[in-house]
Amino acid sequence: MTIIDIHVHIQPWEQLKPGVRDLMLAGRNDLAAIEEYLQSPKAFLEFLDANEVERVGLINYPSPDLMGFTSTTNDFVANYCKADPRRLIAFGGVHPRFCDNVEAEMARLLKLGLRCLKVHPPHQNIAANAYRYGNTAQEALYRRAEQENMLVMFHGGTSIFPGARNVFADTMPIDDVAVDFPNLQIIIAHAGRPLHTETTFFLLRRHKNIHIDISGIPPKKLLEYVPRLAEIANKTLWGTDWPSPGVRDMRRNVEDFLALPIPQETKAAILSENALRLLHACGALSTSA
Ligand SMILES: [Zn+2]
Repeated sequence: MTIIDIHVHIQPWEQLKPGVRDLMLAGRNDLAAIEEYLQSPKAFLEFLDANEVERVGLINYPSPDLMGFTSTTNDFVANYCKADPRRLIAFGGVHPRFCDNVEAEMARLLKLGLRCLKVHPPHQNIAANAYRYGNTAQEALYRRAEQENMLVMFHGGTSIFPGARNVFADTMPIDDVAVDFPNLQIIIAHAGRPLHTETTFFLLRRHKNIHIDISGIPPKKLLEYVPRLAEIANKTLWGTDWPSPGVRDMRRNVEDFLALPIPQETKAAILSENALRLLHACGALSTSA
């Protein structure tokens, strides 16, 4: 079965703030391998082969004050994905509180070839709907993304990283975004877990342009977090959030998912078909198969 993992963090770790870095590295026994993958797309592609993962979304976003990532994270991911644009899908971002010319930055990202964006309210310390309350930079970001038919992933749910603002963990503000930018294709990451899965399920059913990824949820617990998964199977995307804290093994996650008591065609839709459709639609696969 083809696997697309839409939520993997290959990021410039050298930018991480010390406290964030400590949490990222804690308790892992595969750090040397991860450090190698961050430097070498070729090594990472071999790792993906070993895990039988066909394509990955590489999630990056600026969060200079909290995580340490600057806007050069966009250059990092665009450059990294050049190694195999068919298999490596770049997600970048624009920070509404740190970018004074969103139009210019968006033009720069598009020139870099980015078709997918990540918005992270708890790590960017800004509500997903701050544009309704005067944040014109955020409005420009969403407007341009919608015009350019880009795919936008929002972090959904809490974060345990030092300094994360969980007052922005709730996914309900994304309701505003879906109402005001009806043609913007949206993925809510992590299905809003652990506290906002019901809200996220509601949003998914209300808005045709909202999807979820199920990354960061232990697959064995997936049906506890999303009991009505079968009803939203055509809007649900596979992801692991590897190598975030607590996510150990890409392949084991897939095996645990395949063992769930859900129909085979549901599994196939979630593991690759839904992601393929969305990635095609936003042009992220247009130069490839
Ligand atoms: Zn993530």
